[in-house]
Amino acid sequence: MIGDLLKSKSFCIICGEERDGIEIKEDNVLNILRRIKRLMGKKAGENRLVVCRACYPKYRDYRKKYISRQRIYVALGVAFLIFGMLIAPSLLSLLAGLVITAFLYGLSLLNYTPAIDASQEGKHAASAKPVPVGKQKQ
Ligand SMILES: [Zn+2]
Repeated sequence: MIGDLLKSKSFCIICGEERDGIEIKEDNVLNILRRIKRLMGKKAGENRLVVCRACYPKYRDYRKKYISRQRIYVALGVAFLIFGMLIAPSLLSLLAGLVITAFLYGLSLLNYTPAIDASQEGKHAASAKPVPVGKQKQ
């Protein structure tokens, strides 16, 4: 078991370097992305995805932006849907509203930032306090 752990490399999703950090929580979006990569012939899924300590503040920022953007986009899509149904209640309006909502949701995924393990996050935040500021990446 320990051998397996040592074999799999962990990569930081922010800086892209091989680092140790908080593991990313698996979700549907990640699964789909992995499947797409596998379909394209890339070997994906063996590596662990993490957020390294140095990138943690940046990650929190990205995640916050991603979530708020997604909320806005989905709200816009739903508003479109409701508005369309109010001015022209038909199956076509409903479909158009759904397509727009799906499209906006897809757009929000361009900023996709996965969640991290909440239990590990607390530990990380506590231990991340004395991070040296001089080693920041552009
Ligand atoms: Zn990093």
